[in-house]
Amino acid sequence: MRLTRYYMPTLREKPAEAEIFSHQFMLRGGMIRKLASGIYSFLPLGYRVIRKVEGIVREEMNAKGALEVFLPVVQPAELWRETGRWDRFGKELLRFKDRGEREFCLGPTHEEVITDLVRNELRSYRQLPLNLYQIHIKFRDEIRPRFGLMRAREFIMKDAYSFDADEEGLNRSYQDMYDAYSQIFRRCGLRFTAVEAETGAIGGDVSHEFMVWAEAGEDVIVRCPQCGYTANIEKATFRPLLKDDQDQEGPLEKIHTPRMRTVEEVTGFIGVSPSRLVKTLIYQTEVGFVALMIPGDREVNEAKAARLLGVSELRLAAFDDVEEISGAPVGFAGPIGLKGVRLVADRTLEGMKNVVVGANEEDYHYVNANPGRDFSWDMVGDIVKAKPGDLCSLCGVPLEFSRGIEVGHVFKLGTKYSEAMGAFFLDRDGVERPFFMGCYGIGVTRTAAAAIEQHHDERGIIWPISIAPFECYLLPTNWGRSDIKEVAEALYRELLERGVDVLLDDREERAGVKFNDADLIGVPLRVTIGERGIRKGMCELKLRRGKDVREVPIRDAIGEVVSAKEALFKEVEC
Ligand code: ATP
Ligand code: MG
Repeated sequence: MRLTRYYMPTLREKPAEAEIFSHQFMLRGGMIRKLASGIYSFLPLGYRVIRKVEGIVREEMNAKGALEVFLPVVQPAELWRETGRWDRFGKELLRFKDRGEREFCLGPTHEEVITDLVRNELRSYRQLPLNLYQIHIKFRDEIRPRFGLMRAREFIMKDAYSFDADEEGLNRSYQDMYDAYSQIFRRCGLRFTAVEAETGAIGGDVSHEFMVWAEAGEDVIVRCPQCGYTANIEKATFRPLLKDDQDQEGPLEKIHTPRMRTVEEVTGFIGVSPSRLVKTLIYQTEVGFVALMIPGDREVNEAKAARLLGVSELRLAAFDDVEEISGAPVGFAGPIGLKGVRLVADRTLEGMKNVVVGANEEDYHYVNANPGRDFSWDMVGDIVKAKPGDLCSLCGVPLEFSRGIEVGHVFKLGTKYSEAMGAFFLDRDGVERPFFMGCYGIGVTRTAAAAIEQHHDERGIIWPISIAPFECYLLPTNWGRSDIKEVAEALYRELLERGVDVLLDDREERAGVKFNDADLIGVPLRVTIGERGIRKGMCELKLRRGKDVREVPIRDAIGEVVSAKEALFKEVEC
């Protein structure tokens, strides 16, 4: 490609709205432009990256025998009613009506559509297993679209769905996809890990997320350095300390805590550690209110709590509801005398003595409250987030915490969708059975952004060669000189012939401008043809990621570029 014939509007300044590197460099590099909140257009350079990621995804999916399909973005409400998700999915599902008042949505995921596609036609055990995938647009009306492609509303996903006759079949399909995903992210040049994950609105029992290590990630990964246990913080368990250091139960006492609402204020005033205060938080669920009790120095893990309670919706109750239920403003709820809600305790409270709790009365708390004697709970379980200092539940060593970007997610769905939608096949004995399904997603656009988060410096992107928009940037420093131009043209033609994805900077720009753009868009190899070198028959070869500049004879340049390219590919291919 010749830059004068290309469309790559680069920006010199950092756009104000770009908080993270990938967003900044994609805008500055002329790769994407925002159309509306969370909705982006891809320019030629950006789309080349997307196509390369897609290519890797497609090869690895095909290698596992998955078959590519192309499903509609617009989906009828009736399908979503069959699984109950029309009402449950919440506001991320963008709904609208057609001219005939029929209800539709824009597909945020395609379980319903795919199950509908195969029911009635995929009928025999002989046709199983089957895995269908597509690479297509998804729409989710995210509450907080941000960070460019990282959390968009419209984005490209590869979604695959497997159909098996039984659980063992599903386990094999799942493992296949797990292996394919590992291979895909390796080939994209990413450092990543697979973690145990929550299943959320998609459902099912077992799931893993593929996380790219990056500071800008919105997810927290919890890892045991000893046994290798790894989980999303939404799911991570830890070993609770079982014994309290207090063994005598003190007398229950109500004390005045004027205008003190926060854990720090109350415990500071009383003179106990924050872990000794039991927070009572009232939540709303689709089946009524619940009160969650957790130690003052911890946070509720809503995903874990929802799972324990068997509810799909769990959010903090409104101030008015809290007042009505507890009889006091927010900040003073407690388990003693609290009526009409289920009380759920975190397991770290078991065995604790002499705790501080709200008194369900404005400006009052109880001290020396003791479970069993002064209050009891209806249910106990793991409902809090792990935090630094917590110990691995498997081997007891302190857990480590880091940030990651979720680029892929695999789920064992079991028969959830097939049963709800009547998708059955006939087994060997002619008995009708529901499919065992799995579903598997990769955020294609997010993967491109994640690669930038992991591979950049202050000047711009440093693409892994496998997903770089171009492999080689041919940089003649002065297009006005005929000798330079001639050599550049010759190298350009030959590189194309040798199958190198090359971008020729044939602009009549200052060399400095060209070097800046080359660094910004992150092409892995750069060949510079300059005035001094050309007199000696030399050009310069440089890798974007390092500082070393190597002088090579112009006549050897092609061979050098080809072998440098191969070496870079070797690093990511396995
Ligand atoms: P998240 O927890 O980040 O919201 P999710 O759990 O909702 O993601 P899945 O339903 O598992 O996501 O979707 C599969 C993949 O699609 C994710 O692993 C991610 O790479 C990508 N993805 C999901 N939501 C977005 C989004 N808003 N923008 C870009 N990519 C997304
Ligand atoms: Mg997910």
